[in-house]
Amino acid sequence: MKIIDTHCHLDDERFDEDLPSVLQRAKEEGIIYMLTAATEPQFFQKVVNIAQNYEQVYFFIGVHPHDAKKAKEETFLEVEKLLHHPKCVGIGEVGLDYHYNLSPPDIQRSVFERLADVAWSHGSPLSVHARDSEHDIMEILGERDYRIILHSYNGSKYLLDWAKERDCYFSISGMITFKNAKDLRESVKKIPLDRLLIETDAPYLAPVPVRGKRNEPAFIKHTLKVLSDVLDVDEERLSRIIYNNTVSLFGLP
Ligand SMILES: [Zn+2]
Repeated sequence: MKIIDTHCHLDDERFDEDLPSVLQRAKEEGIIYMLTAATEPQFFQKVVNIAQNYEQVYFFIGVHPHDAKKAKEETFLEVEKLLHHPKCVGIGEVGLDYHYNLSPPDIQRSVFERLADVAWSHGSPLSVHARDSEHDIMEILGERDYRIILHSYNGSKYLLDWAKERDCYFSISGMITFKNAKDLRESVKKIPLDRLLIETDAPYLAPVPVRGKRNEPAFIKHTLKVLSDVLDVDEERLSRIIYNNTVSLFGLP
């Protein structure tokens, strides 16, 4: 089986001690590539270094909504520059999170708008984090022809119709294995197979049966298994479909 973890955070300090063994376990589980997503400007270089050090790691460059208040003028220039890096696959993680509001909403919106603009002008994929903010996400993305990835899609029906109409990609995380994720399991059945991606969001959102632990790319197998059960598509076939979706979206070798 060939798998790609479409969204993780390998620069997280929880991987500082044992990243090589984390990547080794990922390899043993058939994970060919991992796309690590930048979150805050002060760690951009750390993200780039990881991607440069490991052949199987590519990166998204962006500012997480939680960290929007840390973006400075130079951050946008840096994002634009790093977008040309041979291992950069797009803009992310960006979006709006009104659940925590760790950055003020108006700052989240302006940072998201500017980074979405960069993605649009470069024709780059955009990895979007949306939490309690669907309305503003749709408004900001407007009618422009973006290549949108809904990172850790949460099952929102409101977002589902809009995103299907816009040909968005839905990246499914370990959340689908959670007991209380009934809505997500129902929504997932309505996503076209050619728009499915899979991710861990490691070190966050570890799937059942390792829920509560530090998540890592190797745990993606639990998510794939549940997704295959929910969709009633054979695991081997599903992994092949998702692998092909991912390679063609990001132009991976
Ligand atoms: Zn993330």
